[in-house]
Amino acid sequence: MQKHTLLWFRQDLRLADHPALQAALQTECPILPIFILDDDDAETRRIGGAARWWLHESLTALDADLRVRGSRLLCFRGKAGDILQKLCNQYHVESVFWNRSYVPQVQKRDAAVKAALKQHNITAQSFASYLLFEPWQIKTGAGKPYRVFTPFSKACMAAEWTGAGQLFAAPEAVPAPQQFPAGTTIAELDLLPPKDWYKEMAQLWQPGENGAQSSWRGFLNGGIAAYQEQRDFPNTEGVSRLSPHLHWGEIAPARLRVDMAAATEKYPDRQARHYAFLRQVLWREFSYHLLDQLPDMAEKPLNENFTRMKWENDSALLTAWQQGKTGYPLVDAGMRQLWRTGWMHNRVRMIAASFLIKDLFIDWRIGEKYFWDTLLDADPANNAAGWQWVAGCGADAAPYFRIFNPVLQSKKFDAAGGYIRAFVPELANLPDKYLHAPWEAPDNVLEQAGLVLGKDYPYPVVDHAAARDKALAIYKHDIKQETA
Ligand code: FAD
Repeated sequence: MQKHTLLWFRQDLRLADHPALQAALQTECPILPIFILDDDDAETRRIGGAARWWLHESLTALDADLRVRGSRLLCFRGKAGDILQKLCNQYHVESVFWNRSYVPQVQKRDAAVKAALKQHNITAQSFASYLLFEPWQIKTGAGKPYRVFTPFSKACMAAEWTGAGQLFAAPEAVPAPQQFPAGTTIAELDLLPPKDWYKEMAQLWQPGENGAQSSWRGFLNGGIAAYQEQRDFPNTEGVSRLSPHLHWGEIAPARLRVDMAAATEKYPDRQARHYAFLRQVLWREFSYHLLDQLPDMAEKPLNENFTRMKWENDSALLTAWQQGKTGYPLVDAGMRQLWRTGWMHNRVRMIAASFLIKDLFIDWRIGEKYFWDTLLDADPANNAAGWQWVAGCGADAAPYFRIFNPVLQSKKFDAAGGYIRAFVPELANLPDKYLHAPWEAPDNVLEQAGLVLGKDYPYPVVDHAAARDKALAIYKHDIKQETA
């Protein structure tokens, strides 16, 4: 029987810059390209609702790209180790290749899979391509992992980087087996929800490698110019929106770095903007660096003193936050942007998260779970690190007394109110002066704007100044030892 090579796609849903695919091609055997949905057991975290929609679309795009090259994607659902073993037996597979995941629970499973395959004399090899550096690679002078971002990012910039060697054009053809094994269709993976709440998302996003590349090219030739100045303003095109593409590995971060280096060589005056963007991409590296140190980062605070915090977890307040009905327009705009588009601007993520934790006294882990289910880019490292950073219990923590003021932030970062008006249309007719705090508007202004507070739009669910004082007192009391 003819020998085959197995190519296991995971969070690397692309054909360009794909080291595992290159290794598979070099075997000169027919390739079985497979994807396994293996998130049903307690060990791996179940992919969230919005991300499932993205995955469905991204797999569909990958399958189409493979078909153009004479192949196709085979999908399976269940225990990865069992499925791989069965395919290896059936198809006389000599080698299995994949790109590494850095999610600790997945790494554990992958190590077991590798060992089992090797026991059956099958070559099992994984490659680095999800990050610019292995999460354990960058170390302090004392050989320890970093806990603070700025020195970590400087060390990354100074480190030797070999990633450019991982970049390859997508192949023109992918050799196919004479007969494909029976698998599950993408639809049978059951990734789509019964109700089509994703319709607006489908208009806004193009999951898959082509979408990733066109977003990146558009940004590199356009938006990146204003990145430094605009990245904090949610009503601008100031950011790349590459996060779901990066999460699903539809574009390699090495590609971003190499393209920016080439552009800087051509246009040296663009160096600062490229550096500003690369620095932000390094936050992603830092999150994985932290996850490598704390595998349970979505559950356990990096600062253990925070386990003493007594949260109030009021369910009515949680619902108001989730539905974008807190009475604080910028928080509400962010939460509604998340619900409608599956994405939220980074500045607003920080403000909305701070509001949940420090104004509503709801456990940051509850917020992390909600984002996990609703974000298209829901990522085990970035999401947990983001929530811990805002709560003040993570690495590089914003000190706990730094509490985002939702009104001042709104006046500063959405001064003309374009973002609020886009997502909270009931406030659209309020003059800018009152848009950030509608409860301060005189009756005649409300009337002219056709707005009845408490009916069309809620009064604030809490008073920020009082909540801030309370948060400071609670934080000081519950994590006193840390500050003593
Ligand atoms: P850009 O500004 O264009 O940045 C480019 C890329 O750099 C991003 O796509 C992302 O991969 C990376 N990046 C940028 N900022 C950060 C950051 N602060 N931390 C880590 N990586 C960063 N990001 C996720 O990808 N998934 C998450 O689940 C996630 N959850 C978050 C939760 C909270 C509470 C907070 C405060 C932040 C979270 N972030 C998360 C980080 C950040 O908000 C998003 O990466 C960013 O908004 C994505 O938009 P963009 O692609 O336009 O970013």
